[in-house]
Amino acid sequence: MKQSQLFTKTKKESPADEVSKNAELLIRGGFIHKEMAGVYDYLPMGLMVLKKIENIVRQEMNAIGGQEISMTTLQNPELFKKTGRWSDDAVDCWFKTKLKNDSELGLGFSHEEPLVNILSSFISSYKDLPLSSSLAIYQFQTKFRNELRAKSGILRGREFLMKDMYSFHATQKDFDSFYEKMQDVYKNIYKRVGIGHITYMAFASGGIFSKYSHEFQTIAPTGEDTIYVDENSGIAINNEVYNEEVINSLGLKKEKLVEQRAIEVGNIFELKDRFSKALDLSYTDENGKKHNVLMGCYGIGLSRLMGTVVEVLSDDLGIVWPESIAPFQVHLLVLQSGDDENILKEANKLYENLIKNNIEVLFDDRQGLSAGEKFADADLLGMPIRLVVSQRSIKDGGIEFKKRNEEKGKIISAHDLLVLLKPSA
Ligand code: ATP
Ligand code: MG
Repeated sequence: MKQSQLFTKTKKESPADEVSKNAELLIRGGFIHKEMAGVYDYLPMGLMVLKKIENIVRQEMNAIGGQEISMTTLQNPELFKKTGRWSDDAVDCWFKTKLKNDSELGLGFSHEEPLVNILSSFISSYKDLPLSSSLAIYQFQTKFRNELRAKSGILRGREFLMKDMYSFHATQKDFDSFYEKMQDVYKNIYKRVGIGHITYMAFASGGIFSKYSHEFQTIAPTGEDTIYVDENSGIAINNEVYNEEVINSLGLKKEKLVEQRAIEVGNIFELKDRFSKALDLSYTDENGKKHNVLMGCYGIGLSRLMGTVVEVLSDDLGIVWPESIAPFQVHLLVLQSGDDENILKEANKLYENLIKNNIEVLFDDRQGLSAGEKFADADLLGMPIRLVVSQRSIKDGGIEFKKRNEEKGKIISAHDLLVLLKPSA
C-alpha cells in the first residue's frame, strides 16, 4: 500500500479528552477514530490489526474443535427474563431500545441465553452431544455495554469486538478436561499476539457457579486490576479472592507473590447448569433419565487485546507491533534529495519486488516531507521493519534495514533483503 494513497494521516495530537495511552497512539497513527467516550471506529490499518488478531483466535478456536457462528445483536427480553438477567438491577450495563410497537429489545452484552435457546431446539438426547469430544460454539461479535467508566480507550469500549465461546457437556468429567485444554489454548493466543511473557493466568471469583474463574491478566501499570503474581508458576491471584486460604490451597507462598497492576485480556468461566436449567437445555441418557447440559464460557475482547498490545509494547516514539499482528511487516521509506528521480525509481522497483514476493509493505512515497518527518511517522506507526532507500543508502550499496526495536540500522543488498524477508510459510 502506498502511503500517499492512504486516506488516514498521522497527527501530532490526539483529542484533548483522551487520557489513555493506547487510544492516544492509535488515534495519532490513524488506526482508529474517536466518536465519543468508549466509542471508536476502526480505520484501514486498525482494522488490519483487528483482523489479524481475529484470525489467530479463530485458528486456535478451530484447533480445539470450535464451530463458528454469528448471532444477532438484538436480544429478546423473554429469554433474559427466564434467567433473571433482563432487569437493570441484575445487569447494570444493558443498552435497551424499543420497536415501533413499543416492545423492548436489548443490545447483546453476552450471548448465553440466545445460544442455549438455539441449542435446545437441536439437543434432546445423549446422542445429540458428542461423547468423546466436546461441543464448543463460538463467534466474533460486537458487544454493547453501557460501561460506567470508559476512559481507557479501546480497553473498555461501550461497543467492542469479543470472541465468545460456549461449551456444552454431558458430564462434569468432559467439562473439566475441556476447561483445562482451554487454559492452554488461551496461553497460546497471548503468546502468539506477543504478550505471552507478561500475561498470567489469575484465579478470580467464580461467583455462584464455581469456586474460581480464570482470568488472563497482562501486567501493565495502567491496568485496572490488581493481581498477585507468582513468577515461578506463571499463576496469579486476583485481589478480589486474595487471602491466606486461597494462597495455601493453590500451593503458593505469600512471600513469593508480587503485587502488580494488570489488564484482563480474557477469561474463562464454569457455568454448570445456570443457563441450561433456566432455559431447559437438557438431554435424556441411555436409561431415559433427564439431565441439564453443563456449560462453560470463554471470552476474549479482541479490541481490548489490540489496545493492550499498544499499551504494553509501545515506547516513547510510538507503537511497536509484534510481527504476528502488525498491519504491514515492512515500512519502506524513500528519502529524495531535490529532484533525484533515480532514488524514487529504485524505491519503486523495490516496492514492486516486495509485493511480488508477498511481503506486506507500506510504502512511504509521499513527496515534500523531510527525512525526520518520515522517520517519526515510521516510529509512531510501528511496523516491525523499516527500510530506507536514499542517496546515501544507494551509495553504500543498497537499502537501510532497521527493526523497530533496534537503535541502528544496517545496509543490505536487495537480494539479501528478499531472502531475509521471504515469508517462511
Ligand atoms: P471487566 O471486568 O474488565 O469489565 P468483564 O468481567 O465484564 O470484564 P466478560 O464479561 O467476561 O468481562 O467479557 C469477556 C472479555 O471481554 C473480558 O475478559 C475482556 O477481555 C473483554 N471485555 C469486557 N468488557 C469489555 C469492554 N467494555 N471493552 C472491551 N473489552 C471488554
Ligand atoms: Mg465488565
